[in-house]
Amino acid sequence: MKDTSEPSPDEIPIKIMVLGNTAVGKTSFILKYTEDTFQEVHLSTVGVDFRIKHITYNNKKYKLSIYDTTGQERYKTLAFSLIKNVDGIILIYDVTDISTFKSVPDWIQSAREKKGENYPMIILGNKIDLIDKRKITTEEGEEIAKKYGLDFYEISNKESVNIENAIMTLFQKVLTNIEQYGRKENPNTILSSKTFKKRKKKLC
Ligand code: GDP
Ligand code: MG
Repeated sequence: MKDTSEPSPDEIPIKIMVLGNTAVGKTSFILKYTEDTFQEVHLSTVGVDFRIKHITYNNKKYKLSIYDTTGQERYKTLAFSLIKNVDGIILIYDVTDISTFKSVPDWIQSAREKKGENYPMIILGNKIDLIDKRKITTEEGEEIAKKYGLDFYEISNKESVNIENAIMTLFQKVLTNIEQYGRKENPNTILSSKTFKKRKKKLC
């Protein structure tokens, strides 16, 4: 855990969760964005973890918490129990692995069951640097995103392609969504770092 502090009073808390099958590059994506690092090894994620990034946007300060999950079946319940407290979802598949792409509709439906149709979400096709291993074309990615009315990027954590663009696109959607629909619950009061740690301890 990187950060245990509550946001400073002038920071607006925003929570984002990263979902997708095992090994699509969720942890790598978060580490690339928050720490600008990349490792070739699979960084096994236990349950749910999170990283913080402080950003300034339109002269306002935000504390962006990015929740990492594991695609493993037994932790799906934990991920979806936390979903009610997050403002947006990044859904990742691996362009070299068909099964991860086939799971995209399931992830979207599960998220929409909890959060509704208008919930801010973005689809990312990762590992486009592996040109020879690619199985899913850009067009196939665009098509599924269009079908569900979601924004879409192809990314590479390894070669730093579209990482910032992806996050900022979702971030803007989240802000618009909060402006339009308000925030039913204040994510600070319902998911403080302390509560989060307690819940995680229980489950792992
Ligand atoms: P997670 O299970 O979804 O969190 O996946 P990880 O972030 O642990 O990544 C799984 C594997 O994919 C690791 O070996 C990473 O190094 C690798 N990986 C992640 N992103 C990329 C990428 O953009 N390109 C390549 N070539 N490998 C990647
Ligand atoms: Mg992981």
